[in-house]
Amino acid sequence: MLLTLTTTHPPASDLGYLLHKHPAKVQTFSLAFGQAHVFYPEVSEARCTAALLLDIDPVGLVRGGSDFALSQYVNDRPYVASSFLSVAIAQVYGTALNGVCKDRPELAATPIPLVATLSVVPSRGGEDVLRRLFEPLGYQVTAERHTLDEQFPAWGMSRYYTVTLTHTVRLADLLTHLYVLIPVLDDEKHYYVGVDEVEKLLKRGEGWLAAHPARELIVTRYLKHQRGLKQAALSRLVEDAPDPLAQDDEEEAAERQISEKVSLHDQRLGAVLAVLKQTGAQRVLDLGCGEGRLLRLLLAERQFNKILGMDVAHRSLEMAAERLRLDQMPAHQRARLELLHGSLMYRDPRLEGYDAAAVVEVIEHLDPPRLAAFERVVFGAAQPGVVIITTPNREYNVKWETLPAGEFRHKDHRFEWTRAEFAAWAQGIAGRYSYRVRFLPIGPDDPLVGSPSQMAIFERGETEIPTKEVAVAELWAAAGGAA
Ligand code: SAH
Repeated sequence: MLLTLTTTHPPASDLGYLLHKHPAKVQTFSLAFGQAHVFYPEVSEARCTAALLLDIDPVGLVRGGSDFALSQYVNDRPYVASSFLSVAIAQVYGTALNGVCKDRPELAATPIPLVATLSVVPSRGGEDVLRRLFEPLGYQVTAERHTLDEQFPAWGMSRYYTVTLTHTVRLADLLTHLYVLIPVLDDEKHYYVGVDEVEKLLKRGEGWLAAHPARELIVTRYLKHQRGLKQAALSRLVEDAPDPLAQDDEEEAAERQISEKVSLHDQRLGAVLAVLKQTGAQRVLDLGCGEGRLLRLLLAERQFNKILGMDVAHRSLEMAAERLRLDQMPAHQRARLELLHGSLMYRDPRLEGYDAAAVVEVIEHLDPPRLAAFERVVFGAAQPGVVIITTPNREYNVKWETLPAGEFRHKDHRFEWTRAEFAAWAQGIAGRYSYRVRFLPIGPDDPLVGSPSQMAIFERGETEIPTKEVAVAELWAAAGGAA
């Protein structure tokens, strides 16, 4: 696997300063999975090329013992640009990747003509994806596609390309784009992808990813299709790039502004989904399902083979049906989902016999005197094994400058509770109906006022989910983990 970087910016040999690698030497670096060699095939004032040759040790990969290595090493890993190359870029060209150059700081900050060639790059989705990733960033892309086997042309073309990227760009930006987009092209990573990876992506994506037209594809693949992580990343990117076309009614927009600021609703749904997955529940209720945002996530998980969404508002159910494209849903998928018009104020036998129920941001819409009816309907009659309830944490409201003191987050909220109020209510229910209850914060956890949203997890009888308090970060990871 070879990556070359060429510049014609005079004096071109300054590329050595930018990369912190002396043009007259061959240097070898030892990496966990093999070796990287840096050398300069061409050095002059007019033109200079640095080459990074990655020499992956296939035997070492197998010794590492991961399934990934076993399945891949026999194929292409030693020979193609992949997440191994990204790691090598970070380790061997780390200073340049970070835009630091003590000797030539202005040069590091200046866009210069650069050509990167990569041999060989696997591209899932072919040349089209390659172009979709690099062209919006200003690169001129050439791609030469390789046959599967030169001796057997009839086998057709492979997904491997030799790629040239040409652009006048800061070296740090070029390295950053390669660092992020190579594993995206490959659609694979050689290491476990957890919540740290979101931070890494947002850090490396700063200044370009939010506005990239293939943002969703990049985030999805970079985070290995883990739904929880993807949502966490996308919602934070959206925060960077507000959609100027979004024209909602003022009030909705105000609520959205508040929740998007902390990408709260996505975090909430990710956390609820993660807990539901951990419980092993197969038959689940979404009570007060609204427009079906949680339902959509539930449908995507095969674990849930019976999903019932219930709401008192006809209009919300219609919107849920529309958003989920119920009418176009394949029969086997459709059979897993039921939408029910009903109220949490009245006992309803159709809600009985479920493993778990989610009640996301619903209780604060009920008049306090009616909470007793809610309690009887859910815990007394329907009695799912697990009940997950989320509601705002009023203490956190002081953190939102746009929210006048003492006001609720939404005009339909009948109350917003402190952590202590929520806990007291939930513990009362647990005692009356023989559930155990524990609490998790959702969103950034402030030492003084807690997190913006709070979650109570009730468990009945045999149901036992890991008793240690799980950080929401881990929950996201769990949410995506089996996705
Ligand atoms: N759970 C959804 C919607 C939250 S908004 C989400 O997280 O996106 C609150 C929802 O509760 C609304 O859709 C509202 O119609 C519903 N709701 C309010 N009172 C209800 C009741 N008595 N029974 C069932 N649903 C109710």
